[in-house]
Amino acid sequence: MEKSSDGSKSLWLVLKQAERVLDRWGIPNPRLEAEVLLAHVLKTDRTKLYLNRQLLINPEQLKAYHKCIYHRIKGMPTAYITGHKEFFSMDFKVSRSVLIPRPETEILVETCEKLIKKKIPCLAEGEPVNLVDLGTGSGIIAISIAKLIKNCKVYAVDKSDYALKTARENAEQLGVSERIVFIKGDLFKALDPMNLEGKVSGVISNPPYIPTGEIDCLQREVKLYEPRIALDGGKDGLEFYRRIIPGSLRFLNSGGFIALEVGYNQASDVKQMLIENGYTDISVVPDYSGIERVITATTE
Ligand code: GLN
Repeated sequence: MEKSSDGSKSLWLVLKQAERVLDRWGIPNPRLEAEVLLAHVLKTDRTKLYLNRQLLINPEQLKAYHKCIYHRIKGMPTAYITGHKEFFSMDFKVSRSVLIPRPETEILVETCEKLIKKKIPCLAEGEPVNLVDLGTGSGIIAISIAKLIKNCKVYAVDKSDYALKTARENAEQLGVSERIVFIKGDLFKALDPMNLEGKVSGVISNPPYIPTGEIDCLQREVKLYEPRIALDGGKDGLEFYRRIIPGSLRFLNSGGFIALEVGYNQASDVKQMLIENGYTDISVVPDYSGIERVITATTE
């Protein structure tokens, strides 16, 4: 039975129709997207959709689902429709005030984990590992690191109250809010009252790095929906690196590290800035497509 007398429709028919519509509007992976959105409406996991093939979708659920499909074909990213995105195998809440977590950023987190673990034996017993996450957004970097490194304290900074609200909720949900201090402010200005000069083991950031003039050339999911403040890296995209690289020196302890995510073709300029500011041990990590994506360096 595909349609019952009360207007309910079979899950399979609903999915098939949604897939067709998404495909017609040029949405990549239409089946997957149709399933993710249906699972969201039915408040279940995508994998559980397959457990009950006879399931009927009632008219109310159908209406909610059609609304989601409409938003998606208009270009709204799925993560903003569902309000969730997976990062580092954890479920993060996202809102329109934060950048949607990208898989590349997992490389930044993994690289930091290795660096910190290497550094921990050099720290005196009981000494806390103070870390700073500049432009925390949804909090993915600060939270993943706090999960991985049990004796660290992360100072997570963001200019946006709305982003900090989302980041705080994520930290609470994932059980690390006691080890993260969320601070509102513009990069290092936010850290001034914290008395952290020379006491930070690592500064981490995935700053906005898209050149202003290129934002309008990005796919509509990004340019129309993601916050500009999370994307715009100034005229050449490098503005934040120009501030973060010299600014971190005041806070890093000797042997402390800086770890930055960079955009396409930015690695050599950022590397040059690190050299000019006296950092050493510079290393570059490529992403899954071979693009130089993460740069780390240490202080003397
Ligand atoms: N740190 C957050 C992330 O990596 C936000 C980054 C940003 O807004 N540019 O997703």
